[in-house]
Amino acid sequence: MTRYIYDFIEGDRSRADLLGGKGANLGEMTRLGLPVPPGFTVSTDACRAYLNTGSPPDGLFEEINAHLREVEARLGRRLGDRHDPLLLAVRSGGRYSMPGMMETILDIGLNDATVVGLAARADDARFAWDSYRRLIQMFARTVHGVPAEEFDRELAALRATAGPDGPTAEQLRDLVETYQKIFLRQVGHQFPQSPHEQLYLAVRSVFASWNSERARLYRRQEHIPDDLGTAVNVMAMVFGNLGPDSGTGVAFTRDPATGAPGVYGDYLPDAQGEDVVAGIRNTVALPELERIDPASFRQLTGIMATLERHYRDLCDVEFTIERGKLWMLQTRVGKRTAAAAFVIAAQLVDEGLITLDEALCRVTGAQLGRLMFPAFDLADAPPPLTVGVGASPGAAVGRVVFDSAAATAADGPVILVRRETTPDDLPGMIAAAGVLTSRGGKTSHAAVVARGMGRTCVCGADALRIDPERGELTIGDRVVRAGEVISIDGTSGRVYPGAVPVQPSPVARYLAGELAPQADPLVAAVHRLLGHADAVRRLGVRANADTGPDARRARALGATGIGLCRTEHMFLGERRELVERLILADGPDEVTAALEALLPLQRADFTELLAAMDGLPVTIRLLDPPLHEFLPPLHTLTARVARAEATGRDPGRDGRLLAAVRRMHEANPMLGLRGVRLGLVIPGLFAMQVRAVAEAAAQRVRDGGDPRPEIMVPLVGDVRELAAVRAETDLVLAGVPDAPAMPVGTMIEVPRAALTAGAIAAQARFFSFGTNDLTQLTWAFSRDDVEGSFFGTYLERGIFGVSPFESIDAAGVGRLVRLAVAEGRATRPDLTVGVCGEHGGDPDSVAFFADAGLDYVSCSPYRVPIARLAAGRAAIETATDTSDSR
Ligand code: ADP
Ligand code: MG
Ligand code: MG
Repeated sequence: MTRYIYDFIEGDRSRADLLGGKGANLGEMTRLGLPVPPGFTVSTDACRAYLNTGSPPDGLFEEINAHLREVEARLGRRLGDRHDPLLLAVRSGGRYSMPGMMETILDIGLNDATVVGLAARADDARFAWDSYRRLIQMFARTVHGVPAEEFDRELAALRATAGPDGPTAEQLRDLVETYQKIFLRQVGHQFPQSPHEQLYLAVRSVFASWNSERARLYRRQEHIPDDLGTAVNVMAMVFGNLGPDSGTGVAFTRDPATGAPGVYGDYLPDAQGEDVVAGIRNTVALPELERIDPASFRQLTGIMATLERHYRDLCDVEFTIERGKLWMLQTRVGKRTAAAAFVIAAQLVDEGLITLDEALCRVTGAQLGRLMFPAFDLADAPPPLTVGVGASPGAAVGRVVFDSAAATAADGPVILVRRETTPDDLPGMIAAAGVLTSRGGKTSHAAVVARGMGRTCVCGADALRIDPERGELTIGDRVVRAGEVISIDGTSGRVYPGAVPVQPSPVARYLAGELAPQADPLVAAVHRLLGHADAVRRLGVRANADTGPDARRARALGATGIGLCRTEHMFLGERRELVERLILADGPDEVTAALEALLPLQRADFTELLAAMDGLPVTIRLLDPPLHEFLPPLHTLTARVARAEATGRDPGRDGRLLAAVRRMHEANPMLGLRGVRLGLVIPGLFAMQVRAVAEAAAQRVRDGGDPRPEIMVPLVGDVRELAAVRAETDLVLAGVPDAPAMPVGTMIEVPRAALTAGAIAAQARFFSFGTNDLTQLTWAFSRDDVEGSFFGTYLERGIFGVSPFESIDAAGVGRLVRLAVAEGRATRPDLTVGVCGEHGGDPDSVAFFADAGLDYVSCSPYRVPIARLAAGRAAIETATDTSDSR
């Protein structure tokens, strides 16, 4: 027969799946000889059986009784004994902590008879009746779903009339009577007098609480599977509400906010655990306990030191003191802020508790990312106007503008406020300090684009009424006009009126080389762990950068090369006109002239880039987007031409541009004339770009530099496309004296390229996975369309837990990556393989790419440190995994 119950002494943390986190850790503490009230754990197996069938498994209650008898024997006290009753706590606790989500019932075992026995034993009738009323209320709520209000009202009324010492025993007895009446009326039968029946019903209701509305919601948010079930811990009660020498508290072994050493916590004298949460009275800081009860304080700090050494990590504990005797009720490895995670990991290394490898695995790239953003000084913040979705972290302060044009025209920082954003808002988003929208969630256009460029963004603030025509937004009856200053917090989603003071991030300043590593404990910890990551990682980290300043910033942040330079950014601004000339060119001579005009501009850009990355590889991607993206939008041209015609003027150039836009219109530009196709269709275009690179590199060589350009061809699907571009490239290079050798490689971003990677590698010195396009094309997702429209639904329905544009879809897109790496290297063993999509800076994806055997990842400059850290962790975790599986 399956066994469902384990005494605490049998539990340990390796069995958390079976015993839940709380049960497993109660087991650990019991085995360490710490003062834990005796008890046992009903396993998650029993809960799963209950959830599957709607009733507890056969024999469960007999098994409970058997274990209960052992507890009774140890304590010399029985459940239901009318002279000296044992009372029980019944506590939920699943594999993953879900604070406050499920149920706990205290004081099980009290009834009209045992309450009298308890009063006599404790020599405290008030305490006994107070415990009884607590039980009735908790039981009514947990087992029968009776709301707390009516009970609370009666209690509050009694407290209001009671004397300065609180209600008397008689008053509390009357209150119990009232509670029993409420119970009868609300539930339809008497409060159960049988302690064993109370116990069974309590266990059942803890099982059932796994599927309560709020527990399900919490699990969905935290990505906790729905089918784990909870364990139930049944243990003897101890009492913190037995007078001034009793009490209850919570404590951390270090400060979970900053990581500073020294115990930290709250204590509430003369109280039971739920009072702390209810906030009925004010707690005192833990050091006060040293004054109130020095012996217990010393014992507690000793136990916390033991727990830290045992768990080799920050722990939090719940404890109760009953008449001067300390009891431990819970411990676990405690949650902490990103800053504390770094500081504590480094401290534990110094204290000899963990290795640097382990320390590195205790921090995440996401945490490092959070530490790199400036933060508001909340001490000086007014109450927020409203709260939206924190979509892209950071703290931005600026004047409100309502459109892209105003954002680009403004001097000084602005917050771009839109109902939602579209690609047309891009210039405004670039110019703004922050973006605020009233619609859309974490995968809306605003959120995705803002994250991509590291811009602070709050979206989906649906209390905002935005009226761009009147130049104002309203929140309730509060009006904010264009030009007024607001502050937005991209982490918490809060929107504040006025300018909230911003503290620059010391970590970001250190990473940019502006702060010494010894500046403060946090910076020192980041320095040390990142240094270790660099020492152990096998994955290189390059940056996506298009300009000299970007390249310099990336290099300062630790990038060892550029993995993607997008040349289309060099065709914007005033140069658009030259592109227009190219498009409108009539015959080969005009094409050549237009390209000749672009050449020196490109050459200057490349020279600066190669200088900034001297000695390091710079991968330059030939022109990728469809050419009509460089022309004015159709509606603008139509309007201009119409205006000209209406006033009898010749639309001239506008007319020809309009004709060109119409001619070049594509139903699906993402799948149209772009990438390598442009190079093959427009003679001389790629040759001009390659010449610009070659001449810039030659100049750098003559100036004594060490340029290492690489030519990357986008959107290749077949080896013949690449071969054609390579032939053209070789021809150009041969004609540029002093040009260094330049490897030619390709992006792998079309599924067909991945599938024919073996053939393509014959013509490519390197592969770079363009995982944005590869994801779009593998899923048949048009990113600009789907993220704003139905990704929310997909995430909610659990089709995927995270957008495949944020974290690589290992099963699908990742499979193409692995295939292409294997077949590419089979053809060319020294093939260099990298990734340059946004995934290159996503910690989870970095782990995947490390495992897939890539040589480097490339990401936006500010994500470079995050990728370095993630690559270090990946190296350690892969090493550990293989040793485990042996
Ligand atoms: P949660 O998981 O929500 O923290 P717990 O099971 O830890 O719920 O119970 C909540 C509180 O009940 C605890 O913090 C503790 O103060 C009190 N409690 C739990 N078990 C006991 C016990 N055996 N004796 C006295 N109080 C208890
Ligand atoms: Mg707890
Ligand atoms: Mg692409």
